[in-house]
Parts: sequence; C-alpha cells; structure tokens
Amino acid sequence: MNPYGHHCRPLLVQLLEGLGLDASYERSKGDYLWRREGEHLTRVLDLVGGYGVNLFGHLHPEIVTYAKHLLENDVTGFAQCSIHEGAGRLAQVLTDQVGPYAVVLTNSGTETIEAALKHAHLERGRSHFWAVQGAFHGKTLGAVQLTWSYHKPFTGLGPPVRFLNPDDPEDWRDAEKEAANVAAAFIEPIQGEGGIHPLGPPFTEWLSATCAEHSIPIVADEIQTGMGRTGTFLASEVLGIVPDYICLGKALGAGIAKIGALLIKRDRFLSEFSMIHSSTFAEDDWSCLIAAKALEIMTRDDLPRCCAEAGNYLLVELESLRKCFPDQIREVRGRGLIVGVELQKQATMASPTLHMISESGHLGYVAAAYLLNVHKIRVLPTLSDPMTLRVEPSAYIQREQLDHFVDGLRAYCQAVAASDFAHLIRHRVGLAANPLTNYSHIRRYKRDEPRTPRRVAFLGHLITPDDARACEPSFEQLSSSQLETFLDESGRLLEPTILHQENLCSALGTEVHLSFIALSLATKQFVKARADRDGAWIMSKIKSAAELAKEAGCQVLGLGGYTSIMTGNCLRLKVKGIALTSGNSLTVGMGVRALKSAAHRNGVDLRRSRMGVVGALGNIASTYALWMAPEVREVLLIVRDPKSVRVAHMKEQLRRAAPGTLLEVTSDLTALRHCSLIVSASNAGGGLIQPEQLGPAPVLICDIAVPADVSLRVRDCRPDVIVLQGGVVRLPLSDSFYIPGVPLEPGYVFACLAETLLMGLESVTSHGSYGEVTIEGVRNALALADKHGFALGALQTPFGTDSIIPQSAEGRLVR
Ligand code: PMP
Repeated sequence: MNPYGHHCRPLLVQLLEGLGLDASYERSKGDYLWRREGEHLTRVLDLVGGYGVNLFGHLHPEIVTYAKHLLENDVTGFAQCSIHEGAGRLAQVLTDQVGPYAVVLTNSGTETIEAALKHAHLERGRSHFWAVQGAFHGKTLGAVQLTWSYHKPFTGLGPPVRFLNPDDPEDWRDAEKEAANVAAAFIEPIQGEGGIHPLGPPFTEWLSATCAEHSIPIVADEIQTGMGRTGTFLASEVLGIVPDYICLGKALGAGIAKIGALLIKRDRFLSEFSMIHSSTFAEDDWSCLIAAKALEIMTRDDLPRCCAEAGNYLLVELESLRKCFPDQIREVRGRGLIVGVELQKQATMASPTLHMISESGHLGYVAAAYLLNVHKIRVLPTLSDPMTLRVEPSAYIQREQLDHFVDGLRAYCQAVAASDFAHLIRHRVGLAANPLTNYSHIRRYKRDEPRTPRRVAFLGHLITPDDARACEPSFEQLSSSQLETFLDESGRLLEPTILHQENLCSALGTEVHLSFIALSLATKQFVKARADRDGAWIMSKIKSAAELAKEAGCQVLGLGGYTSIMTGNCLRLKVKGIALTSGNSLTVGMGVRALKSAAHRNGVDLRRSRMGVVGALGNIASTYALWMAPEVREVLLIVRDPKSVRVAHMKEQLRRAAPGTLLEVTSDLTALRHCSLIVSASNAGGGLIQPEQLGPAPVLICDIAVPADVSLRVRDCRPDVIVLQGGVVRLPLSDSFYIPGVPLEPGYVFACLAETLLMGLESVTSHGSYGEVTIEGVRNALALADKHGFALGALQTPFGTDSIIPQSAEGRLVR
C-alpha cells in the first residue's frame, strides 16, 4: 500500500483501490486536475470541486497572484491580540453583503459550527439543539452531534440534538412541545453531503414561524451553499429566511486559504464571546485578505449569476437525459451549481453483479469510477447518499465541459440499460473498448414467490472465477485472469445478496422455498484470507448473509463451501433466530454411498481393499473414515503431522469402531500408491492429488473437496482411474433446477444444499450439521434424504451412468 494508505487512511485507500478511484493528482487549474498515470499526466474534468471549495476553480490566477503578492510583501502572519486589519477588511466586505452581523473568523467549516453552538448556548442559556435529518454540519465533537450520518458513535459526548424530519408535519408539531428549551436550529438550505436535497417551503415556513415565536436563532449553514453557488449569495435568500447566524467556509478562501466565518446578527451577538472564543490560526491577514479578494472577484464577475445560468443549463440537460433513461437515473436535483444526480437501483437481474453492487450501496462509486477512468470526469457520491452523484464545478465552468459530463453519464446509462457490466469495469480489468453488447433480455436467475411457509436460505460462493461467467452474461468478454482481477478487487466491497429464489418439491409432494444468497468471492479469496489470517471481513459478510436470510423470512441457513469452513462448521457464527447447517452430514453420507456404489460396479471388494483418507483430520474425512473403517481391510490416514495429539485421538476412535481393520498414518501422499480406494476432503483449495501418487488400477477416488483435490492431470495421464464427485445429490421432481454459477447439471445439487432443503422440508428449527459431524447425524441425514427422494447424484464412472458433464477448469470433476 502507498504511504498515504499505510500511514494515514488505510480503510479509505483500500476502498478507493477496490472501486478504481485510487487516483493521485499532480496538478490543478480551473476545472481540471491532472492525474498521474505511469509516465503520463491525464487531464480530468473535476466536477467534485473540493466538495464546493472551488467556486473560483483550482488556483484562480488572480487569487494566486494576489496570494503571492501578499507573501512577497511580508504580509503579517500571526500577531495575536493586536488589531487585525485583514480581518477587519474581510468583515467589512462580508457585512456589506449581508447586513449588520458580527463576524467570528475560523479556520474551517466544522470550527465555524462549533463557534455557532457555543454562542447559541451562551445566548440562550440552553443546550438542546435542532437539526434536520440528513444534515451534515462537520465532524468535530460538537458539530458531529448535528451530523445525521455520523453522530451515533459520539452520542452523549456533545449537546443533545433532535433531528427534525423535514417531510413530516407530525414530527414538527411534536417538536414544538420542546421549543422553549431549544438553543438554536441548524439548517442547510440545500443539504449537500446528504445528497443535494433542498429544504421544502412548508418546512422552512414552519421553522421560521416557530423559531420567531420562541426567539430561537436559525443557524444557516451556508458552508457549501454560500458565496453565490446556488445563484444568490446565500441559498437561504430563496427560502425567504433571514438567518440569525450564518456559517461560511469552503469557497470563502477561494480554494487557497483555509478559512471560515460565523456571522451573528448584531442584536444577538454577545460581546464577551470575543474574549472566550479564539483560535491561534484564525484572523491571519493572509487568509482574510484572500477571502476579501475572493468576495471582490465574486461581485465583479457576478458569480451568482454565472452559477445560476450554468446550473440551469446543466439541470435542463440532465433532466432530458433522465427522461431517456428513467430506469438508470431516478432524479435530478439542485439549484445553481450544486446539482445531484440520483441513480436508480438496479434490480432487473439481467446483470446480477449490478444488482449486487446496487444492494451493497456502491453503484454511485462504480459510476464515478467509470466516469473517471473511461471519460476522464471526476464526480463522486457521498457516504451518506451513495446513490447520488454530486456536481459542484466552478462558477466559470463552460457549456462544453458540462456537455462532456452529460455525454459520459449517457454512456453510463446506456451500459447499464444494456446490462453490459463488463463495459463498466473495463478500465479495471484491462478490457479493450468494445461497442456495447445488449444483455438486457437475459434472465438467468429466478425470483419465484414462496408458495409455502417452509423457507430456507443457502449461502454460496464461486468455486473458480470462471464460474462467474454463468452468473453474469457480460463476463463472457472477460478472460480467467480478468475475472480473477475483478473478484480480487471487488470481493471486500460486495455484500451477500439474494440472487435466486425457487420453490422445490420433495418426492412426498412437500414444498420448500429456497433463497440462494451469493457471495461474490471465489475459493481462492477464502484460501488467501485464511492463510493471511485476514478472515474477519469475510466473517462479517457471512453474518450479514444470516441477517439477510432472517429478513427474507427463512428458518434455516445452509453455509456452502468455504463459508462453513470459515465459521468452524457454523460454530463461530453468532446469530439468533435461524437454524444453521454446514450440510456436512449429508455430504459424508452421500460420499460413502458414492464410493460403495462405484466399488460394487467396478468389482472392487471392500473387505480386501486399502482405503486412503486424505485430509483425514478434517471433520468430513474423519467421519467418512469412521463409517467405512469396519468394511475395509486397511485404513491409511494421510495427515500433515502424524504425531499430533489429534491423530492419536482419531486412531483411538477408529480402533474402537473397527477393531479388526489395519491402521496406518503418514504425511506422504505417495503412500496412496497402495490404495485402491481413496477418500479426499482436504481444504487445500484444489489439485492436491497428482497421477504420480496413484497405483495401478483399479483405483477409485471419492473427491468431496470443493474445489476438487484431484488434479486435472489425473484425467489426462490416468484415464483408468475412476474419480467420483462425492457430495452430489439428485433432486426429486426438479429436473430443471439450476443455480447459475454452481457447476452442476440441472436437477443436481451439492449435498450441503440438499441437507438445507431437507431441514426446511422437515420444518426443523434447531441447528443441523453444527460443529463436528457425527455418525448419528449422517444416519439421520441419509434417512431424511431417502424419505424425501433425494438420491445419490452423479457417479462419474467409465460406465457413464448418471454422468455430470465434466467441467473444463482445473480442479473439477475428472473421469
Ligand atoms: N457544513 C457543511 C454544510 C458542509 O458541507 C461541510 C463540509 N462538507 C461542513 C459543514 C464542514 O466543513 P469542514 O469540512 O471545513 O470542517
């Protein structure tokens, strides 16, 4: 990770990298930034504008010249407790603009809010405040109390705040009861960070009247909206509000000085405030004179009018784009040059990845990354409203530049409308700039309403990145390594999402409704997270999946693939109100049946066979071995450390279960050479068993591991070896059941999913395979399978019965 990520903001940088927003900029001028890309600097149209700072554009030439001039002429830096001419000058220009207010100068927006809180408290002798739901007023300890999305962790560490619902008159009436105790009411005339929401007249009229009645000062936070950005010097002017306090920041320093100002109506201003509120850095001449100059230029160039005109043009263009793409753009909002484009959530399922991204709250960031990397336009959503792109360019922005943005956004809308997700991430995976392909008519997942109260969920993940092509139609354009790149980079960002819902019927005619929850991760990401001891983020996704299953009304959640391994076979997943299962009991049961059935068909006499057990200490393999031990001549346990206590314990159990069976332990996989039966269920992540380790035919391998332990080389070099996929079950009455991305033929499911379905069919409300698998559990699972007609699935044998089409990727079924 780069030094910024390493030393300063690790999580933020991880997110930016995952989203493709990890640009660094080396130059800025006007409405452009220059991004370093290898040897080149790429020009990027900057519509974020420092979240409103750059009303004058980056490094406005006149301000830069003036700032240099001041420094070259020995401007006074910090001379506290003296007569600050610069501050006086700035205050004069400000009050010329707004009328008789006292001016308290600060260094930032949030500090301005702090000053307002303190003054209001002193003025009113009260400490209770009002703010508006969705508001943003800063992040220092006092200001954060007023900030809707960020206040929770700090509640109680600052003044109590009631958040008014600007759309609910009931709530206002209720609030009126406490009006006498309120020190001040804070508003943003247009909420910026909250997603560009102008306050509605009914609310502001009520607020004005109530505050007037109780003499509550209205504090207009114009830190983002002030200085003409919305078409008038203050956005409050349009609301008909004359604020008692005005907060300014951001553009006040013209993008060069860091300065804020609190303006307090003269008749409310407490003169002692100038003695009890101060700051070392505030009121310095350099910053104040730059702000005064900025106000002068603002008036001279009539920036409010520039903003109004450019803003009107942009709003009209965006609104006509929205009319063309109502399913991609939900709403366009704003006034002047503070504009929000709210994107539509994507739930059509033609692109399940877009759906997942939408559900995970990252669609706005994906759009931003596409616009940045493909169209060289910088816009961003906010954390509080991740679906809304904020546009806040300089007042000097030109129509061609705004057209460039509208064109880029049109391209985004077209790609989403075509469900060509690959197009949207082509910059991330290095895909050539192809014309769009239309995938919007493809629907691979089902969304069937439940026909029964018996509802189960199953959490699955991709086995290999290539499986993603079956899920996401546009991934046909991506190579295996491009898919891997996508999964590596997006894995942490995407939340578990329900992709498929279907009613299934048992042989008895009982129904169960399945919700398939997908995690956009492949085995490799799990294996890596385990190796790096970095599994906490995956655990939290598994937990979210359990909550999602509960919300969807499911009584049972099955943990598929590595999600059961990560949770220690469910034990580490702490959730209440839902029964869990790893599905391992039926996996073992069906595996045993597969091996026995294949032995029978191939004339292998169990009683004379030596059975190798790979990954023998694992829960599945050890139960398998215990079950089979009494029926074979010899058991060979293959483990990492033959001398471990757990091996001794395992041997003890085997001796008790099968006193007459020979027993050997080794760590050497070549010892498999003397085994005609092999059971393999390691967590190695694929490709453990190679042809060189195998003896002469007949050799039967039951490979329960997913991805398979048996290398594809075995198929090529040892066609005589019979490899069975153990944990596969054939569903009754469901020949067409198929979940895209699960590499099985229609009508077949992995045994872990089958066990989940059986629990649903039986209306089980206690955990199923939870923790260690037991022989008893395996017996019960098999009995339920038999009762409901869930049969042993495909046997991949040379005789070709029940065959599943072999898959091409490494570590899959082999013949
Ligand atoms: N109020 C509003 C309305 C803002 O938009 C912001 C900054 N986004 C602040 C206060 C806080 O300003 P600063 O980041 O300078 O502390």
